[in-house]
Amino acid sequence: MNLSRRTLIASLSATVLSGPLRAQSGGTRPASQFALDICSKVCRAVGLSQNFTVLAGDVDAAQARLVGNTRQIVYNEDWLRQAEIYSDSGVPAVVVLAHEIGHHLNGHTLDPIPADVVPPDGLRFRLREELEADLFSGGITARLNFSYSAGLPAFAKTGEKPSLDHPSRKEREGYFKAGWDAAPHIEVCPPILAGPPPIREEIVTVFTHSEDDKRIRSQFRGHGGAWQELQNGEEFAEFEEISRDPCNRILLFDSERKLWVRLTPSTTGFGKGEFNQDDRATRERVPTNWDTLDFATQGGPQRCIKGALV
Ligand SMILES: [Zn+2]
Repeated sequence: MNLSRRTLIASLSATVLSGPLRAQSGGTRPASQFALDICSKVCRAVGLSQNFTVLAGDVDAAQARLVGNTRQIVYNEDWLRQAEIYSDSGVPAVVVLAHEIGHHLNGHTLDPIPADVVPPDGLRFRLREELEADLFSGGITARLNFSYSAGLPAFAKTGEKPSLDHPSRKEREGYFKAGWDAAPHIEVCPPILAGPPPIREEIVTVFTHSEDDKRIRSQFRGHGGAWQELQNGEEFAEFEEISRDPCNRILLFDSERKLWVRLTPSTTGFGKGEFNQDDRATRERVPTNWDTLDFATQGGPQRCIKGALV
C-alpha cells in the first residue's frame, strides 16, 4: 500500500471513526519492533501494564479487537510507516494507536450495543467509549511531550455530525483536548542548544584576612575560567583559572600581584583558601608551598594523594 498524505489523513480518521470490533482471529502477523515500541511507550506513559497483544494485519490503519478473551491492537504496517513519514511529526499515528490502546486500557467491552440502550449520563455506551478513548489519547499526547495541535490531524476527516456509534468531531476534539490539558505537562520540546552547554557560575566563599589583618569573608566567583574575588560585596581582585588538581582544588593566578590562590570547594559552598605570593611566580609554575588565607584556621595545607586530601 502506498498512501499519499491525503489518503493517509483520511485513513487515520477512518480508523478513529471505525471503532473497536469483536473479531475473528486470523489475517495477522507479528508486529514490527517499531510498532511494539510505540505501544509500549503509550503504556509506560501512564504506568499501566499492557493488557493486549500487538499484531500487524490487513486493516485500514489500526483497530482495537477482542478475539475471545484476548485483546489485540491490529495495525497496518504500511500505514504506520507512511504515517511516520507523511504527517511531519508522526504524532497523528501515535494519537490513533493511543486511542485504540485506550479502548483496551479502559476495559471497554467492545460489545455491540443496541441502539436503544441509553445509559444514565445520556451517552450511548459506544459513544462514551469513543470519548474515553479520545480523552486517553489526549493525555498520552501530552505525556509524550507532543503539542495538542500536532495530534489534531487524526480527527481531520471525522464526521461533523454525531452518528449512532461516533460523537461529532467537535466533541471528540474537545475530549482529546481535555485529556491533553489534564495530563501532567513536562516542558514541551526543550530548546535545542547549539554548541556546548552554558557555563555555570561557581561560587566558593572562604575566610581570609584584610590588609590590616582582620578576619573577613571573601567570595570567589568563577565563570568560564575567569574568577573575581569580592570582599564585602565589592569587586576586589581578578584571577585566571590555571588548573584543577585531582582533589578538585581550583588553582587561580593573579599575574599582576604574582599571587596564586588555591580554593578547596565544599558542598556547602563554604570552602577553604590558600595562597602563595612570590615575585618570580609565573602562571606556568604551580607552587608547592601554600599558606592558609584564614589565619584563624588550625592545621597546615593538605596534600592531595590519589585524589584524596590528607
Ligand atoms: Zn474508538
